[in-house]
Amino acid sequence: AQDLQGIVNHKLDALLPSDIRLFDKYVSQYEGVIKLTLGEPDLNTPEHVKQAAIADIEANDSHYAPQSGKPELRQVISKYVKGLNGVEYDPESEVAVSVGATEALNAVLDALLNDGDKVLVPTPVWSMYMQLVSLTGATPVEVDTSADGFVLTPEKLEEVLKKEGKGVKAVMINDPSNPTGVVYPKETLEGIAKVLKKYHVYAISDEIYAELIYGEAKHYSLTSFAPERTIYVSGLSKSHAMTGWRLGFICGPAEIMKNICKMNNFLITSLTNNVQAAGVEALTNGLDDPKEFKAIYERRLTFMEEGLRELGFDMARPQGAFYIFAKIPAKFKGDDVAFAKALAKESLVGVTPGSFFGNGGKGYIRMSYASSDEDLHEALKRIGKFVSEH
Ligand code: PLP
Repeated sequence: AQDLQGIVNHKLDALLPSDIRLFDKYVSQYEGVIKLTLGEPDLNTPEHVKQAAIADIEANDSHYAPQSGKPELRQVISKYVKGLNGVEYDPESEVAVSVGATEALNAVLDALLNDGDKVLVPTPVWSMYMQLVSLTGATPVEVDTSADGFVLTPEKLEEVLKKEGKGVKAVMINDPSNPTGVVYPKETLEGIAKVLKKYHVYAISDEIYAELIYGEAKHYSLTSFAPERTIYVSGLSKSHAMTGWRLGFICGPAEIMKNICKMNNFLITSLTNNVQAAGVEALTNGLDDPKEFKAIYERRLTFMEEGLRELGFDMARPQGAFYIFAKIPAKFKGDDVAFAKALAKESLVGVTPGSFFGNGGKGYIRMSYASSDEDLHEALKRIGKFVSEH
């Protein structure tokens, strides 16, 4: 094959494929392995949402949709986000649809960043943030939050901003967090908002797991404390079990949304019509659908958390999303990669090493409990045997 080194985009050359996906592939080589590696709901998209898409196809809705989304979808997104966060976005000028949250993040970062800009990325974090920032030509700056309970504190943010100087344009916030399940406390978000305003820095707030909050925890949105400094990214992948539909959205102040929409239009032209019809249905008649999913996930979380604690894993109770981020028992000496490899090979359970999510994740493993009850029961049994035999 022709060597394309130096011919194709050098930024792509420098990027490694996602560790998480590579590791998923690695564990898949073992026949009969139970994979708790990927963050994908095992549940099905609600029936009424599917029917709305089918009806849309039957109605020959087959032409280009308006570039930033159908007006009726942008209106229901605006209403939904107001209900969730209390912040009002104008459907015409402050809301855009995207191909899932991932493309939303691409559009936002591409619209905002120039070569040489810096973006703060609190870790442990979904590793895609690092890659998406790097692809724009900007530099991701990792901020290890492990000493602060996996939360970026306002003090730490200010300290890093002082140190990094004027080159920092934005900070990534993921709340609730993948991989840790942490939900940011209200006071922390208020503090972060103050720092953003003081230093004229943007936050890109990825709140894709906001509907999946457990126990006493309450989700607040950074948008409600610093609306002028925050670009909100979310979507229906996790809330409505719609990962494969690719439906996300972006909300932000009109002046910056003008540029984000411009970039988004270049990237996608427009979003698939029947997907948009499904989105309108989900955010109109499906507002309670996430509650059903949430009850299922919470039951699984309790089961896994209690079981893992008994086996010697240490963790803060996850408050949101569908991941457990647990410290491996002391006898494994903090080597999360060796632990996860051996667990897959010897006991046929796939989990993701914590260090794949950044420095602060060393010594931890991430397990997704968006898997069937049977799989989770069996996985816990196998993990128990593995730990006792080592
Ligand atoms: N943001 C976070 C924090 C995620 O964990 C994920 C998926 O795992 C996404 C975004 C991707 O969402 P989507 O499937 O809508 O692109």
